[in-house]
Amino acid sequence: MKEILLCKYGEIVLKGANRKYFEDALCRTMRRKAKRFGEFDIYRAQSTMYIQPMSENCDMDGMFDAARKVFGIAAVGRAAVAEKSLESIAETAREYLPAFLRGKKTFKVEGKRSDKSFPMDSMALAREIGGVILSACPYLRVDVHNPEVVVRVEIREYGAYIHAGQFKGAGGMPIGTNGKGLLLLSGGIDSPVAGYMIAKRGVQIEAVHFESFPYTSERAREKVFTLAKIVSEYAGPIQMHVISLTKIQEEIAKTCTEDYFTLLLRRYMMAIANKIAHKRGCGALITGESLGQVASQTMQALGVTDCMSDLPVFRPCIGMDKEEIITIARSIDTFETSIQPFEDCCTVFTPRHPKTKPDLAKVIEEERKLPFDELVEEALAGMYTLNITYED
Ligand code: ATP
Ligand code: MG
Repeated sequence: MKEILLCKYGEIVLKGANRKYFEDALCRTMRRKAKRFGEFDIYRAQSTMYIQPMSENCDMDGMFDAARKVFGIAAVGRAAVAEKSLESIAETAREYLPAFLRGKKTFKVEGKRSDKSFPMDSMALAREIGGVILSACPYLRVDVHNPEVVVRVEIREYGAYIHAGQFKGAGGMPIGTNGKGLLLLSGGIDSPVAGYMIAKRGVQIEAVHFESFPYTSERAREKVFTLAKIVSEYAGPIQMHVISLTKIQEEIAKTCTEDYFTLLLRRYMMAIANKIAHKRGCGALITGESLGQVASQTMQALGVTDCMSDLPVFRPCIGMDKEEIITIARSIDTFETSIQPFEDCCTVFTPRHPKTKPDLAKVIEEERKLPFDELVEEALAGMYTLNITYED
């Protein structure tokens, strides 16, 4: 039996003249993803992308799951393809549908005949196939008003489709259609979610991770790479830049007033990220900050760090509760990795009484005790980069 996936576009159907640009980006992502699951013909018609297997050994379940994670797709339908005869349609329905109807109680069949040369009208076709389903799945009842499942049978030019239903897709916009952003990725819960949310708007993601070896461990670094890999299943391949903050942290700890430690460190992070972003052609920074979550995320503290970047800083978690962030983290599968307990550079040398309402002038006064630009350049000189993809 031949099965086909039908992907419905999300927001890009609203695009006017440059819609093709969005569709092309979507196709590129889908074709790259499809490589893992076999040989597919991927083409589009009437606001739908068709994914058709070209051989018997294509992994349709794998492809289906992958298609549901492609940004720009609102829903993914599965359908079996039958020949345009009642016998073929009935036999295919009997074989194909029970797996999708298991555990359901009510259904109805809708017929659609785009090819009017088919000798039966839509109503009669629906009735026939309804009967076939009832005999194959005797636990089901027909409910034409409020069915749990609607089975659609469609007669098209090239064949008959028996739809098993539509399943929610990832939504959003195709990756790469909305510029590139630099994600400040820690090993925590929030920043992978932030990266996912901005990627969902079509932004290609690069990431920077700050570590503080030997205060932070090899395993903490591996954890961050794992998180990037999980996010890359949605966001596409991620260039990951790693910067050591060890010297900067030691200098701050040695020279500056303890209460300002975190704020100063975060200003270095923003300044370094800003430089990387410019060099890599990223138009924005992305962080997982959430208003009031910790001392460094009060309005005043964000003001003190925000001004270190001349690029917009996207903080998609800013208005979210931890619980809401965790719900997304679970749904994208980063949560279990994020909660593994390893030190982050932000948790090394944490002050006992961090400033929650810092005064910028005082922060700058503390900062001037160190050669800021020199330390930034030195950290950048030690940067290394790797490419992280889900496929590896
Ligand atoms: P997360 O916010 O990811 O759960 P966290 O809560 O431990 O981690 P915070 O101390 O709240 O991190 O830091 C706020 C934001 O700063 C993070 O969401 C992240 O964008 C950025 N950040 C913090 N630590 C690092 C790091 N080591 N490397 C890169 N970015 C970091
Ligand atoms: Mg956080």
